Amino acid sequence: MARAKYVFITGGVLSSVGKGIVTASIGFLLKARGYSVGAIKIDPYINVDAGTMNPFAHGEVFVTEDGGETDLDIGHYERFLNQNLSKKHNITTGQIYLSVIEKERRGDYLGQTVQVIPHITDEIKDRIKDLALETGVDVMIVEIGGTVGDIEGLPFLEAARQMKLEEGDDNTIFIHVALAPTLTTTGEQKTKPVQHSVQELRRIGIQPDIIVVRSQRPLEEEARRKIALYSTLPKKAVISNHDVDTIYRVPILLEKQGMPSLILEKLKMKDTKPDLDPWIRFVKLLDESSYKVRIAMIGKYTKLKDSYISIVEALKHAGAYFKAKPVLEWVESTDIEENRVDIGEIVDRTHAAIILPGFGRRGAEGKIRAIKQFREAGKPLLGICFGMQLSVVEIARNVLGLKGANSTELDRNTPHPVIDLLPEQRRISKLGGTMRLGASPINVVKGTIAWEMYGKEIVYERHRHRYEVNEKYLDKLESAGLRVSGWSPNGLVEFIEFPRNIHKFFFGTQPHPEYKSRPLNPSPVFSKYIETIINSN
Ligand code: GLN
Repeated sequence: MARAKYVFITGGVLSSVGKGIVTASIGFLLKARGYSVGAIKIDPYINVDAGTMNPFAHGEVFVTEDGGETDLDIGHYERFLNQNLSKKHNITTGQIYLSVIEKERRGDYLGQTVQVIPHITDEIKDRIKDLALETGVDVMIVEIGGTVGDIEGLPFLEAARQMKLEEGDDNTIFIHVALAPTLTTTGEQKTKPVQHSVQELRRIGIQPDIIVVRSQRPLEEEARRKIALYSTLPKKAVISNHDVDTIYRVPILLEKQGMPSLILEKLKMKDTKPDLDPWIRFVKLLDESSYKVRIAMIGKYTKLKDSYISIVEALKHAGAYFKAKPVLEWVESTDIEENRVDIGEIVDRTHAAIILPGFGRRGAEGKIRAIKQFREAGKPLLGICFGMQLSVVEIARNVLGLKGANSTELDRNTPHPVIDLLPEQRRISKLGGTMRLGASPINVVKGTIAWEMYGKEIVYERHRHRYEVNEKYLDKLESAGLRVSGWSPNGLVEFIEFPRNIHKFFFGTQPHPEYKSRPLNPSPVFSKYIETIINSN
């Protein structure tokens, strides 16, 4: 097997400059030419994984098929590449140090002084190369998180620099993504920050081969000329990545400027005509989607929209095929609790609601109030994970009259623990990476809405939870009309729903179907949800 080629993506000027989308887009464009592609996200923080971080800090925790709690960029990669990536595709400083220190304790480096160079950098290179080998990809794209100049990113950049040396000029390429801000007073595109970040990159021995410039409007000729000159690059290697209305247009933007051909030329790979048609068709559907579907998004991390990014994207994917444009109204559930918003008014002005995933007590009662109102108004309601659990609590309290019913996550001493810890969770004391995680089979019950969604007996969705519906309450819940429409093989409740004669769409899912939704492969759960909203209006 031929060895892999490596594309390194670095970022300059500031974070959140869109490196993840550029990485995902490049992956997509190479894959559309028939190459097999993988993408790695490097996060220079010391957490071993994203699972222990608050979504406010880093946005959503994306769960992979094999149960990794990863950075949300892995979600972008999966959506653009339309393929699963294992947890090994998210490398953090924490993982690198953990294994180097374990090796040191084992005596693997006996006699040596263990140092950043070469031990940490070797560990980084090994992980990247091993994964490329293991997955057998033609091209491995490696996005180095953070901004050039960050202290914590240095070992990763050094490892990338060494890889060029070891793998050879034809097998590595460096792409730098940086921001050219526009001055509001003069409307002028300023290139100095890009120049400085290129200098910073060179200072550590990396000369970029391509520069992707993020800007508000298309890059002006003069700005392109300047950036090319100061970066010692031909003008065609300076790519404009200006603001577009949807991230799904970025691959098309990069393709039009010949970026994939440049990459392939540098890597001495054959350029072929890409198959972009399905993607272009999807973007066209997005353009044509005009029917506004107003959805109340009830959660507690709503101040940072990235906290729920896979759900937002899943709604876009599903919506496009119905020519529907999801218009989201974010509702902070603590605002419901403290009467800062009138949930009745929100029910009136929206078509449907999603009760978002989450943890802990804050805002939970607000979510329960929202569920009650949407249920009573007969409006479509989708509860995801915590949202599903709280829907069960709401029914227990308000339909079954079980006073004080709750999840033991919220009230340990509830008289009616309708949601309780998974049995295997009782023995767990460490909180990192110990939830029920990743994809596992679900048996879908025939004749249910879940069956209409999936149309098959066994489906795989990804989990991230510690609590579950308490089987002791199943009979009671069923007497309220609720039915279980998906089971795990060992009898855990995966999907719950009301049959249509009770409610037109009251659906709860313990796993997170949003993680598997893709532009070219929308989630059946979200599709059914959107379809129901459209048909009932
Ligand atoms: N807090 C709940 C649990 O741990 C739900 C988790 C979630 O919404 N991802 O079971």
